[in-house]
Amino acid sequence: MIDFSELKIDALLVSGLPNIRYLSGFTGSNGMLLVMPGSQILLTDPRYTIQASEECTCAVRTVKGRPLHEAAAGLLQSKRLKRIGFEKARLSYEDYAALKEHLPLGASLKPVAGVIEKMRMIKSEEEIARIRRSVLTNSEAFQTTLKRIKPGITESDVAAELEYQMRLHGAEKPAFETIVAAGAHSALPHARPTRKILNGNELILIDMGSCQDGYASDMTRMLFLGKPDQKTRSIYNAVLEAQLAAIATVREGATAQQVDRSARRVLKEHGREKEFVHSTGHGLGLEIHEPPRIGHKEKTRLAAGMVITIEPGAYARGLGGVRIEDTVAVTKNGCEILTPTSKELMLL
Ligand code: ZN
Ligand code: ZN
Repeated sequence: MIDFSELKIDALLVSGLPNIRYLSGFTGSNGMLLVMPGSQILLTDPRYTIQASEECTCAVRTVKGRPLHEAAAGLLQSKRLKRIGFEKARLSYEDYAALKEHLPLGASLKPVAGVIEKMRMIKSEEEIARIRRSVLTNSEAFQTTLKRIKPGITESDVAAELEYQMRLHGAEKPAFETIVAAGAHSALPHARPTRKILNGNELILIDMGSCQDGYASDMTRMLFLGKPDQKTRSIYNAVLEAQLAAIATVREGATAQQVDRSARRVLKEHGREKEFVHSTGHGLGLEIHEPPRIGHKEKTRLAAGMVITIEPGAYARGLGGVRIEDTVAVTKNGCEILTPTSKELMLL
């Protein structure tokens, strides 16, 4: 729950859409939520009148012909609210200025950070069930697409097929831009699929996520068209060992930092720590990247109910990159790996 007295605010104006959805159920693309101790009011425009009344459990005000921020300021006046918190990472400067301009006399705006995001870190049973379904859809889409990958098709073709299969299996959309990167291209951790033709005898990195019932999944797997050489095998095995070591560290009470370090330690043993250029993972849920970040400076303690990814990688210029990523749910004594897909290097 929001601790209004600790934040020294009378109300919180929530403008981040995932946060609004989390608190009210509203899934539209234009809304503001005024949260007060014990009650909340959603402001939206007439396009969403019917939808909001169906989705929300709280009061809904439809605002006609003026910006939501102006209407929000009027609401603050009628409720005699003085100290108004706003989400500093979620409100544009333009909207902030409009809000400030219409603010009632004597009222003030106070920036707050990560309040709802902190609540969202621990998932409810229902949220975990949704993420689980999203993960299964994602893996089914991957499995079906595998049969269609052969030399001669392009990275882009594979990405299109993956996203098509996601939808057929129940997703509403991809959770992020699907990554399909072959050969040297896979050394770019966030490569975009191109018209590059898959030739055989090269690594293919696939990083994909589905969004189902609003919840994200995230998985990275590696394929090899042909027979991998020793160099490719060794980089693959190093990353796999690092991924398993990081997963073995996940449990309630461990810090995000400890999990990150166990992956980094293994890659160092293999002389590959410099090739690991990102953090070990991230939380996911209504958004694809949510707190906690599993990075080397992160002191956040993991707790049962968090859902995070574990995705170490190593990227060698010219040769290619390897990343292996699962979605896992933190438990009291360890974690449950939600991703069912095999982690063997898949040879096609
Ligand atoms: Zn991913
Ligand atoms: Zn990820």
